[in-house]
Amino acid sequence: MTGMKTERSERISNLKMRDKSVSRRPGSAMLFQRACEVLVGGVNSPVRAFRAVGGDPVFIERAEGPYIFDVDGSKYVDLVGSWGPAIVGHAHPDVVREVQRAAEMGLSFGACCSAEAELAGVIVGAVKSAEMVRFVNSGTEATMSAIRLARAATDRVKIIKFSGCYHGHVDALLVAAGSGAATFGEPDSAGVPPPVVETTLQAAYNDLEAVERIMTEHGDGVAAIVVEPIAGNMGFVLPAEGFLEGLRSLCDRHGSLLIFDEVMTGFRVAWGGYQNICQITPDLTCLGKVIGGGMPVAAFCGAKALMEQLSPLGPTYQAGTLSGNPIGMAAGLATLRICQQEGFYDSLYAKAFRIAESLASAAADAGITIQTGAMGGMLGLAFLDRPVRNFADAQAVDHELFAKFFRAMLDRGVWLPPSGYEAMFVCAAHDDEAVAHIIDAAAESFRSIAS
Ligand SMILES: *Cc1c(COP(=O)(O)O)cnc(C)c1O
Repeated sequence: MTGMKTERSERISNLKMRDKSVSRRPGSAMLFQRACEVLVGGVNSPVRAFRAVGGDPVFIERAEGPYIFDVDGSKYVDLVGSWGPAIVGHAHPDVVREVQRAAEMGLSFGACCSAEAELAGVIVGAVKSAEMVRFVNSGTEATMSAIRLARAATDRVKIIKFSGCYHGHVDALLVAAGSGAATFGEPDSAGVPPPVVETTLQAAYNDLEAVERIMTEHGDGVAAIVVEPIAGNMGFVLPAEGFLEGLRSLCDRHGSLLIFDEVMTGFRVAWGGYQNICQITPDLTCLGKVIGGGMPVAAFCGAKALMEQLSPLGPTYQAGTLSGNPIGMAAGLATLRICQQEGFYDSLYAKAFRIAESLASAAADAGITIQTGAMGGMLGLAFLDRPVRNFADAQAVDHELFAKFFRAMLDRGVWLPPSGYEAMFVCAAHDDEAVAHIIDAAAESFRSIAS
């Protein structure tokens, strides 16, 4: 892609692509136009606007099993799964039945209901670090509250996060992805006052030495290190050997708390979460996505003594009008009941690996170098010539090429996350037919973007 001419023809082909997609999806185009009049950018979460991949967003009418259907009648094999929650497939009859049953009893009470302790009990039984649970409504709330609790419990203010890790849109965690060098944070968004992020220190993911340096300098002021134990918001980045262990021992040495943000990985890569695989016990764990089965449910949990510092037992305030509401609890319980079935995660593993391997060989056949990886129901794909270990690598990915691949796959009936910084999600409902469709479409798409 050098020179004006190539750039121009690139732009023209983009335009053509856009025109084609508009005429192919007139319903979506019309709805998007209307949405843009009354919703900011036409969306309620920025990534849905397709800015990173071009073209207008596609409007979805319904979803079932491994498929989603748009308003123009097209069917797609879904590798997003509502960004993770749909681990048992969309509209699973057991989940729908439980939600309907709960809905008939009232949508929300603003008072205690039995399903709260029931779902909390499942989480306590499954997640190594969990003795007590507090439910909230989004992953953002979970990390925000976990950090508040960590600061209260340690009577310290600083936190360490890793560039490229996403923990929701909590002010203190919206810190610009920096270089490998640890720096004081700068806000990543307008409206976040610099003082709010001045206490957020950052390091590159997988760079244990950087964390050691920060801890040597600031350790006695660090309330918590917060980390995605598998980073899923800059693609799919596994922790290097010894990285999480190192964080655990640094926290122990300096009296800081270790927070695993398992909003994505919890019940996604294994029953419980990644902590059950890596055998490292964090002090606090954030959950979301899968535990709500598609309803707005998230949670944070930890040891009893720590969690009891929350109101009403302790001085750390935390609350929610709709927290633990019966519909969300019912959806979560029904979903986790299915996840708990014998062989559930083994089958996800097998499928995700098969897809990852097929993507790699299809790309190689087309002369394109990619990195793939999988763990449980999580799947990574990066257009890069080396493994992605941190945010700098994630930024070096050929995002232009990913955008082309995204559009090629969309036109062939496969729904990928509309950004090269995201992981893909495999669900129990992806049967042989759906997997074969993904693999065939990918082979064609790699060929088409290579030429
Ligand atoms: C999705 C996600 C969040 C934010 O959850 P929301 O429900 O979107 O607020 C936080 N942390 C991680 C690791 C996530 O993947």
